[in-house]
Amino acid sequence: MSSFQNEDNEVITEIFTAGDEVRKTRGSIYRQVSLLNGLNDKLEAGNYRKLLVIGLPCHIAGLKKLQAVNENFRCMEIITIALFCKQTKTEEFSRFARIVLKAKPNKRIHYRGKGWPGRIRVDGGRSLPFNNIRLSLMWPSFAFTPSYCFACTDPLGQVADISVGDPWLKKYSGERSGGSLFVANTSKGLGIIKEMADDDRIFVQPETAENALVSQNISYIRFKTRNLKARAVSLCGLAGKFEAHSNYLRTIRWVKTNKKMVECLYRTRIVIYIPELLLKVYGRATRLVFRRIADAGEKSGKTP
Ligand SMILES: Cc1cc2nc3c(=O)[nH]c(=O)nc-3n(C[C@H](O)[C@H](O)[C@H](O)COP(=O)(O)OP(=O)(O)OC[C@H]3O[C@@H](n4cnc5c(N)ncnc54)[C@H](O)[C@@H]3O)c2cc1C
Repeated sequence: MSSFQNEDNEVITEIFTAGDEVRKTRGSIYRQVSLLNGLNDKLEAGNYRKLLVIGLPCHIAGLKKLQAVNENFRCMEIITIALFCKQTKTEEFSRFARIVLKAKPNKRIHYRGKGWPGRIRVDGGRSLPFNNIRLSLMWPSFAFTPSYCFACTDPLGQVADISVGDPWLKKYSGERSGGSLFVANTSKGLGIIKEMADDDRIFVQPETAENALVSQNISYIRFKTRNLKARAVSLCGLAGKFEAHSNYLRTIRWVKTNKKMVECLYRTRIVIYIPELLLKVYGRATRLVFRRIADAGEKSGKTP
């Protein structure tokens, strides 16, 4: 079971029974996908015995909860694949992408594709490299990230049998064919990867766990895997009290302020007129400041 965007720009989730059909679900969807909606009805209609589910870590976590309480799921073998995900995006992200790409509202966006890291392109419009700063500035700043993403502690999809991400490492920067980083989180996951490699269906090259973390920017991983309560209360607007080290609170305050500033740059459309060089400097500064304040507690050994 996996999701795709149809020509009318709707997100569709389907259970496919033919391998070829799954091909149409290729590509990241940087939108809010309701993967599990109506799943029970789909299962009842299909009488399936085995299911492969591809989704974000939060989808797979939700699926595991359903599995624990729903009879339809319990008698079925379920294999799960999660994408690495530090954040998804609201529709505003796509709206500004269409403005930058000079496309009509509601046209479908192909967020990735054409090699690695690939290009972002829109039906009937322009395309830009995926990491073009006029759009990619929205990533390190968490601009247009739904608040529930700040209540996540599983950016690497450890909840799934296999998780997959981008190999954001210097040594792969010239690699254009679109290889992905795989992590086998369970013995079932490892078995599947080994079987596919043994059958020559995929080419596998071992990578260290440390490099896998580095590829995902370790400061962001630390930020997302710790102090859930402080984040949920401060950034998701949930009620409650929390205790967190002052360094972590400083990071949260900075994320909140910077997010608002960058969103303001897009909403006022000022971002279109700012020279790319300045945006690049701002993007670098965002990562640098984030790393410094997020890692400050780590270095002094004080982060709770
Ligand atoms: C919201 C989001 C955030 C991401 N964050 C990171 C990150 O922080 N670090 C990183 O390394 N990689 C991240 N990725 C993953 C990366 O973009 C690639 O999708 C991943 O490397 C798999 O690429 P692929 O070419 O192997 O898979 P593809 O062939 O592109 O297949 C992708 C599969 O994922 C499914 N899918 C795509 N988007 C969604 C979605 N929003 N919800 C549910 N299912 C979906 C599709 O249906 C398809 O089955 C993110 C992806 C998304 C969608």
